[in-house]
Amino acid sequence: MIHFRQRPFRTPHSALRALAALALALLLASPADAKEPKVLFIGIDGCRFDAVQAARAPQLAALVAEGTLANDCQILSERFQGSDTCSGPGWSSILTGVWADKHGIVDNKFTAPNYREFPHFFARLKEVRPTAFTVSLVTWIPIQRNIVSAADIAEALLPPDEDWVQGDANVAQRAKQVLAQQNPTVLFAYFGQVDEIGHKHGFHPTSKEYIAAIERVDVHVGEVAAAMRQRPTYGDEDWLVIVTSDHGGQGTGHGGGHQVPEIRNSFLIVSGAAATRGKFEQQTYLVDAPVTALAHLGISPKADWKLDGKAVGLKDANVAGRAARPAGQTADTHGP
Ligand SMILES: [Zn+2]
Repeated sequence: MIHFRQRPFRTPHSALRALAALALALLLASPADAKEPKVLFIGIDGCRFDAVQAARAPQLAALVAEGTLANDCQILSERFQGSDTCSGPGWSSILTGVWADKHGIVDNKFTAPNYREFPHFFARLKEVRPTAFTVSLVTWIPIQRNIVSAADIAEALLPPDEDWVQGDANVAQRAKQVLAQQNPTVLFAYFGQVDEIGHKHGFHPTSKEYIAAIERVDVHVGEVAAAMRQRPTYGDEDWLVIVTSDHGGQGTGHGGGHQVPEIRNSFLIVSGAAATRGKFEQQTYLVDAPVTALAHLGISPKADWKLDGKAVGLKDANVAGRAARPAGQTADTHGP
């Protein structure tokens, strides 16, 4: 009898004690930061930041206030200038973390992609963490058709009549739904009307149509950010919000803008509890955006990924990959 009484009681008891000790050790090992890191990644096509500043854009301003901003994020590398200043190479760089000489997209024809060797950053995330849940919601079809991979949800939401204003509303609506009903690790939401309207009415802070497009997208940014904050589990989550654009514009275009600051300067916002505050102290590049997302999610780039970007705008330089360049690359990765 004693034998039976001891075994069922003592074994679970010591197991519980061991568990408690382990829990305490884990607690001590990772003090404040047991929250689950997540990324909301927002792309606004053809968006000049001087126009954002001229617009009534309180949602983007709030993200800047809760994070860090570069308004001269470079869309081209010093190393390679052989790609056009347009969306194909731009979004490829933003989503793969490498420049066009690697991903192979030099214009909007997508004739020689090398996404097999240099895939979308969702694929890098899943390579390390297969359980990550990845979402891509876009209206520019080539992202859906060519660039995205390793997505649990990938949707192109441009209506058949190519109403870009409605398309952006669809993206915001779907993003809100996913944030409310599912558990994304990273959600990429792309808005296209700013570029579309820039081509019709001019990419400039004095174009009232261009400004109105930015203001409509700003409302969508606010809707999506609100859905993020309203998640029942938000208190246990550590969301990083990244916002960028693939290029600016001048007149009603942006092709061949290698020497035009209004075209080749994009912007980069990194926002949230994990982000630094104020202006970036270093030059930033489009390819930094996905590497920053990966770093926030705890993913250190492997050397053989050959990423060109670096993690920027994150407070904690000690967490895996944060502020660190890929192994084998030095601070002058972007060229002299
Ligand atoms: Zn365009």
